[in-house]
Amino acid sequence: MPASLDFLFDHPPSPVQEIVDPRLSGRGVRLLVKRDDLLCFPEHPAFMGNKWRKLKYNLRQARSVGHDQLITFGGAFSNHIAAVAAAGARFGFRTAGIIRGERPAGLNATLRYAEHCGMALHFLDRTTYRRHPEPEVQEAILRRAGPGFVIPEGGANAAALAGCRELADEIKKQLAANTVAHYALSCGTGGTAAGLIAGLGPADRVLAFPALRGGFMAGAIQRLLEAHFPETPFPKWSVRGEYHFGGYAKFRPGLIDFMNRFYRQTGIPLDPVYTGKLFYGLFDLTAQGYFPEGTTVLAVHTGGLQGVAGFKERFGASILEY
Ligand SMILES: *Cc1c(COP(=O)(O)O)cnc(C)c1O
Repeated sequence: MPASLDFLFDHPPSPVQEIVDPRLSGRGVRLLVKRDDLLCFPEHPAFMGNKWRKLKYNLRQARSVGHDQLITFGGAFSNHIAAVAAAGARFGFRTAGIIRGERPAGLNATLRYAEHCGMALHFLDRTTYRRHPEPEVQEAILRRAGPGFVIPEGGANAAALAGCRELADEIKKQLAANTVAHYALSCGTGGTAAGLIAGLGPADRVLAFPALRGGFMAGAIQRLLEAHFPETPFPKWSVRGEYHFGGYAKFRPGLIDFMNRFYRQTGIPLDPVYTGKLFYGLFDLTAQGYFPEGTTVLAVHTGGLQGVAGFKERFGASILEY
């Protein structure tokens, strides 16, 4: 008997925690954190946060069509790869990860973890990897790694958006009406942002903080909204593109200092790729007077803590032990 998926659809809401800090209160800003980083199984921690929300309906679909293997795609440091591997281990799916680039001599912490979860890693040179959505390339991959239920790179499919949309319902149930003026979250594909936006009402506002550079995020979110929620009236949303620190997995010492101070002060661990940049950006916007006095901001902690170990290994960054 494979492990039941029921708990994914019937769990207590992740808590909302208030951040107390003079840098916020001095500006009349209240900051709440939706602790989706606590949405995880202790023994399979990479299945965390927005990856839990994005994968739950995918797992249900995979099981309902009778697949016992999940196949997905990603870079060597991908939280999504680690999450799919963890989900497979937790719920009894075999997993295959198609990884961008040649197999390195030594695997990084993310890929070691994925293998430890039982994921079969298939490395694809970058040129072929770029073409992986093309039907012929996909067929060749499935001949090698399949059969299985295919989840796209980054996981932002219809099932994922349905899961992320529930984040909005959950928050609305937890907080008194009109508590929050601005919702904020970090983005990679924009899937989580699109789901949250679709679940909120026209009076809400959403700020999306891309972890990658390139200025494609507004277009990506817009396309996801049009494709998946064509009839929905959306809240006002915008992209804050000035806090990516140079791009995916790029950082400056100031970001690490900010994360360490935040952790000492609040007990909330952040990751340097996504949530560290989000909270840095929110504190910076607050310092600039972006939020009118009396504003309550709710930031979604999307998780991503599996990436911290690999980041330290790669850059020697002095992030505190969580
Ligand atoms: C994967 C991930 C994201 C990006 O989510 P998208 O839905 O791809 O935008 C954001 N935050 C964390 C912590 C993640 O692991």
